[in-house]
Amino acid sequence: MRSITAVLLSGLLKKCPHCGKGNLYSKYLKFYSHCPICGEEFHSYRTDDFGPWLSIIISGHIIVPLVLSMEQNFKIDLWIQALIWIPITIAVVLFLLPISKSICLSILWRLKMKDAEINKNNS
Ligand SMILES: [Zn+2]
Repeated sequence: MRSITAVLLSGLLKKCPHCGKGNLYSKYLKFYSHCPICGEEFHSYRTDDFGPWLSIIISGHIIVPLVLSMEQNFKIDLWIQALIWIPITIAVVLFLLPISKSICLSILWRLKMKDAEINKNNS
């Protein structure tokens, strides 16, 4: 069994939590059903809303201090700030989303928390 640190690092790098080498994603947010390197299966782990939730939390902690700092130091009009911060926020969230989703899958894999419904249908 890999250590939780190694599993979380694999999640951070969007790699298989079992071998740490195979890619988790076949597309932007679509997991492979099995690891292309070691064959570990991923399809019975459901990350649900954890990925979006984590990416929103992290991006909020990055963006909000920057917005407040800019507001206090430069007194820029709100519409200009909206033009600046809305695209940056969207870009940061879209960047963090696959990372946070793969971290979630890695945690679920480490805790062996497979979806009972998917396992029931496959057996
Ligand atoms: Zn693997």
